[in-house]
Amino acid sequence: MKALVFDQHGGLETLRIADLPVPQPGSFDALVRVHAAALNHLDLHTRRGIPGLKLPLPHVGGSDVAGVVGQVGSEVGQEWLGRRVIINPALACGRCSFCRAGEQSLCDQFKILGEHTTGGFAEYIVVPATNLYAIPNDYSFEQAAAVPLAFQTAWRALIGQAKLKPGERVAILGAGGGVATAAIQIAKLTGAYVYAITSTPEKEQRARDLGADETINYRNSDFAKELWQRTGKRGVHVVLENVGPATWGQSVRSLARGGRLVTFGATTGRAAETDLNLLFFKQLHLIGSTMANYAEFDAVMGLVFSGKLRPVVDRVLRLDDGIEAQRLLESGEQFGKIVLEVAGEE
Ligand code: ZN
Repeated sequence: MKALVFDQHGGLETLRIADLPVPQPGSFDALVRVHAAALNHLDLHTRRGIPGLKLPLPHVGGSDVAGVVGQVGSEVGQEWLGRRVIINPALACGRCSFCRAGEQSLCDQFKILGEHTTGGFAEYIVVPATNLYAIPNDYSFEQAAAVPLAFQTAWRALIGQAKLKPGERVAILGAGGGVATAAIQIAKLTGAYVYAITSTPEKEQRARDLGADETINYRNSDFAKELWQRTGKRGVHVVLENVGPATWGQSVRSLARGGRLVTFGATTGRAAETDLNLLFFKQLHLIGSTMANYAEFDAVMGLVFSGKLRPVVDRVLRLDDGIEAQRLLESGEQFGKIVLEVAGEE
């Protein structure tokens, strides 16, 4: 089968299209014929190399997959055969105390499909059947592939972790990203007032189209100062962060007393300074979040596939254009998800 792989950690030059054997499902697994796979920043981090993460090479990335179940293991229900599915990329052991308590993303064995395991930038993928999620027949594979990682990440960060409430003010950074485009919609559905922080007038317009109440272009203003002014010097209750050191100081300064900053990524680096005086005097909460537990996944997928939330797809390329797709994501020019079409509709 055809797959987009990298042979060593590094830049775009490490990527190539390879011919790999079709994987075989174990007793509790399913083989999915991939129709579409969406990119995430995680794919770029994994390719460049994540300290402490040792991967067998060549590696197939790709955490977001939509396709059709082609084969199932002996312990998996036959009803899955031929079903159109997405895959929940959050993998957990299913046996530990966290998993038994329904907190899979805190599992010691927690892994992300395509980061720690072989991913979906390929014609076929094998996954645990517990991670299959059936999708409606009229939902396109390209749209569906854009959903799993971004929507569960946004949902847990805003709802599970920040406990965002109606009427609260929330600032969402990097508004062109997949998680942010999900987060803007989730925050509006919750009844919050949304400030989208982004980098170009075009992205500001797109963020407003998604429901953002106000936008700020961080390229030509100090967004913390701007938020402070626009909120009558009160600040926002919640900031959703994934930028890291480039924005961290401003994100902390944007918070109201008792405010919550949730971070789920660190695109511009791993180390940032926090003003400790602000942290204790304003009684701020700094919260880390990753992916979601399985109940949160089901909750947000229900909202997506009933049409209350919708994925934003910037563009669809072919698997053969996987290198160009990663270059585009790296450039940061996209608004929403970049999706690879892997096979035609059946
Ligand atoms: Zn576990």
